[in-house]
Amino acid sequence: MPASLTRNLITGGAGFVGSHLVDRLMEAGEEVICLDNFFTGRKQNVARWHNHPNFELIRHDVTDPIRLEVDRIWHLACPASPVHYQFNPIKTAKTSFLGTYNMLGLARRVGARLLLASTSEVYGDPLVHPQPESYRGNVNTHGIRACYDEGKRVAETLCFDYQRMHGTEIRIARIFNTYGPRMLPDDGRVVSNFIVQALRAQPLTLYGDGSQTRSFCYVDDLVEGLIRLMNGEHTGPINLGNPGEFTIRQLAELVRERINPELALICEPLPQDDPLQRQPVIDLAKQQLGWQPTITLQQGLEPTIADFRARLAAG
Ligand code: NAD
Ligand code: UDP
Repeated sequence: MPASLTRNLITGGAGFVGSHLVDRLMEAGEEVICLDNFFTGRKQNVARWHNHPNFELIRHDVTDPIRLEVDRIWHLACPASPVHYQFNPIKTAKTSFLGTYNMLGLARRVGARLLLASTSEVYGDPLVHPQPESYRGNVNTHGIRACYDEGKRVAETLCFDYQRMHGTEIRIARIFNTYGPRMLPDDGRVVSNFIVQALRAQPLTLYGDGSQTRSFCYVDDLVEGLIRLMNGEHTGPINLGNPGEFTIRQLAELVRERINPELALICEPLPQDDPLQRQPVIDLAKQQLGWQPTITLQQGLEPTIADFRARLAAG
């Protein structure tokens, strides 16, 4: 009898990160069920796997329970861009709380291991810099980012309570800003905004004075970290991000020098509660997963710009 394949459920699998994870697992010959409500995900992102015998695509909202037979649940379903998660903040909080609750219920029923895509946003506007996993964060519970930040915090809580009460196997990844091909042109996140603006010969919009920092991880590096976390023995929470820290102005400079150095940088108001700085400590990931990013921002921008150029040209 042939060895049975690992059956993976990827919630949010048609989204930016999820679709790259689908590719990696499909290329490894595993079975993949991609589940998505297509709020920010696109069928196009997983179109290459249609009709493949190991692949299934399900339209479903994780705020509703679902019964499936799977071994591993990669729980990524949740809009990640502030523009999208603030579009309907109550729905975002429901997605994080009810969605994670439903997926943990499924994991418990079928004995699957669940990996939660948590976020550096659990650190809020951090008072400790850079951020280790032991830092408990500085989140405004009633601000416009709270639906996402607090949603992910309670999702982490649910995971640990399922582990303590029911022995459910969990893995928690705290993902820092990630970019790469397949981000939506209207996603609203800074890397996609700057690239799309530059390709359209528009000024690049710095919110505030552009002195706030982020640390940008290329999507292939992140997916490698997620896979190592799922396959390893360490529960987390564990930071997955690239420690290379850049001001937003530096990012704008990097993008425009690759596309059109003549473009203007213009300042727009800084959104409420926008974190001033963010940089991961990744010692735990190095020790426990043998993982660290391999692709610099300068390197990762090239394929990302090429992907946006091709998609914008195709219309
Ligand atoms: P994305 O918006 O591209 O993908 C999210 C996916 O989830 C989309 O396909 C969307 O349609 C789907 N989805 C949203 N709500 C759903 C629901 N209720 N039911 C079913 N599907 C739903 O975002 P992404 O950047 O790919 O992020 C993926 C995950 O990683 C998210 O959980 C996000 O919080 C986390 N994360 C991402 C980053 C990043 O920088 N990309 C950083 C930290 C955490
Ligand atoms: N940002 C910006 N211009 C834009 C979009 C975003 O200056 O067109 C800033 C934003 O205010 C934040 C940073 O870039 O300080 C990262 O924003 P993003 O939405 O990508 O991620 P997050 O704030 O969730 O880390």
